[in-house]
Amino acid sequence: MGHLRAGGSVGALEEARRGVGRGARRGAWLGGTYNYIDQILGGILPTLRDDTPDHAQLKKAAECEKISYPKPDGKLSFDKPSSVFLSNTYHEEDIYCHLTLKDPSVAIDVNYKEYASPEQRYCPAGVYEIVGEDEGNPKLQINSQNCIHCKTCDIKDPTQNIVWIAPEGGGGPSYSKM
Ligand code: SF4
Repeated sequence: MGHLRAGGSVGALEEARRGVGRGARRGAWLGGTYNYIDQILGGILPTLRDDTPDHAQLKKAAECEKISYPKPDGKLSFDKPSSVFLSNTYHEEDIYCHLTLKDPSVAIDVNYKEYASPEQRYCPAGVYEIVGEDEGNPKLQINSQNCIHCKTCDIKDPTQNIVWIAPEGGGGPSYSKM
């Protein structure tokens, strides 16, 4: 059950947050209203289930309209490199890449051609880049040293081709104020 109560455990809080996400997939108004009532009632309504994994919900690029995002203004919105800088992320340079592809050809043959390489957009650290487009030879470049270990790519990749493994030597983000 997705209960959210004062003094509840972290596990209960996490379950309630997942319930909000599942509710939202039924539409912002319907899901939001359901979760609002559930929280007022102390979490007595059944937890909404969504059995479709996140990666299977992604639509192909041809089914979507291109979104033009405004450039970051440096006041309320910021570019990815400056945000990664704040995370104090560090990885040793001579260790193995902790972001692996089960089949490297899928990155272009499927992700790029069918999904417009969504890893370029959902990765908050700009780790994934398509290079060589102008030369007609697109390739996926993985800047693993910037990875902040959110594991979104491991969960969201539509083909489940990206596998996140723990980096050697305890590298990763270091949030000094947390
Ligand atoms: S774990 Fe997060 S930050 Fe690291 S590459 Fe994947 S999406 Fe990017």
